[in-house]
Amino acid sequence: MSEIKFHYGERIPLEMHKVRIVQRLNLVPIDRRLQAITEAGNNTFLLKNRDVFLDMLTDSGVNAMSDQQLASMMVADDSYAGSETFSKLETKVQEIFGMKYFLPAHQGRACENILGQVFVKPGSVVPMNYHFTTTKSHIVINGGSVEEIVVDEGLNVTSDFPFKGNTDINKLKALIKKHGAEKIAFLRLEAGTNLIGGQPFSLANMAEVSKVCRKNGILLVLDASLLADNLYFIKTREEKCKNMTIREITRKMSDLSDIIYFSARKLGCVRGGGIVTHSEELFLKMRELLPLYEGFATYGGMSVREMEALTVGLEETMDFYMVNQGPIFIEYMVDELVKKGVPVVTPAGGLGCHLDAMAFLKHVPQTQYPAGALASALYLVSGVRGMERGTMSEQRDANGIEPLSNMELLRLAMPRRVFTLSQVKYAVDRIGWLYENRELVGGLNFVEEPKILRFFFGRLAPVGNWQKKLVAKFKADFGESL
Ligand SMILES: *Cc1c(COP(=O)(O)O)cnc(C)c1O
Repeated sequence: MSEIKFHYGERIPLEMHKVRIVQRLNLVPIDRRLQAITEAGNNTFLLKNRDVFLDMLTDSGVNAMSDQQLASMMVADDSYAGSETFSKLETKVQEIFGMKYFLPAHQGRACENILGQVFVKPGSVVPMNYHFTTTKSHIVINGGSVEEIVVDEGLNVTSDFPFKGNTDINKLKALIKKHGAEKIAFLRLEAGTNLIGGQPFSLANMAEVSKVCRKNGILLVLDASLLADNLYFIKTREEKCKNMTIREITRKMSDLSDIIYFSARKLGCVRGGGIVTHSEELFLKMRELLPLYEGFATYGGMSVREMEALTVGLEETMDFYMVNQGPIFIEYMVDELVKKGVPVVTPAGGLGCHLDAMAFLKHVPQTQYPAGALASALYLVSGVRGMERGTMSEQRDANGIEPLSNMELLRLAMPRRVFTLSQVKYAVDRIGWLYENRELVGGLNFVEEPKILRFFFGRLAPVGNWQKKLVAKFKADFGESL
């Protein structure tokens, strides 16, 4: 299986499915959008879906399910303990990852809670290619600290480096030398590195990391939430893997890991999660916490219907023409924006298209949250909802000091198999217009700032009255158009 080629050279992101159920969308007028974003405290998390046209907030729990998945939900075997549905899921997980032990959980961060409580102690260090918001919180809350050892290229916003999620092996070795292997709770590799733009790591790099871990007796934990995208990039960008199937690559990755966990809100296109391991000892340690937080070991907080759909979804993820759907649409969007001069993260990654807010809004200081301001402005001019991934997504340290993020990104997620090409073109059109009018956009300040994961519930206000000016310019250019 390979990529589909086109006679006229243009790379068309081709849907390998057809639409059989549709949902009406609302595109409300700009005056209503101004009211809505004001009511939401300029935090796109607090918008109501009825005011949103294209919801590009996240890919979590909003990927389209297949007809086969929906059909499977009708034959679920409902039982608290020992359901046939769980056995089917367990067998599929064992087959795909080649690991014997599976713990179901209600979502990805639930797995992180268990890993954090079992392995992280005060003073523990957890190295990782890059952190994820919920992961870091679960490590810090148990007294540990996170050390990022991504290759330097990972933090270059524009690059043609194909594997920006790779681990820097020298940084890893230096870190082991500095802390000693016994201080390291585990090493975590995040597939499709979320916060730096959905960037993958290569299989070769993972093999090197695994070698160092095994030599030093360090557990390798793979966060496989965004595995689907990473699999696509390994197959299409890594010469040695061109002729391997998606299933073979998955198996190679799990052979290099001790524990794999995932959010099934992304992997498998349902809502749930799980932890997989080959070690009975590790399994038993983690299982102790399951009834406390998730439920009995044959459902872990998932409904039997979700488990049936996950069994099908995991199998469907082994199809190249399924895992390619996110990346090819994202690549199209990134290429179109680059043509218009809009600063975006390159090369195109998985998960979504990431606007570089630091370059987009050069005049907005980081302390006024350029990525948050861009999220607010883009919603205002388009009804497209994105997510801030920058300083707002960080949290203050124990002394109340606000760390400035390495990158200020506005993530426009591309839920898998959800949007059409015309909708992507609409988003590109409005982003292009906003870029031409970028000098009108100003910063934001917190008016309510929660201590933990402040980006979820925090409320902000614009610095000055830039939003009114932006609305006036929009009306001057587009007239009565929505
Ligand atoms: C979404 C995500 C998580 C957390 O999963 P939830 O199901 O949202 O709790 C963990 N790691 C990565 C890489 C993710 O993208």
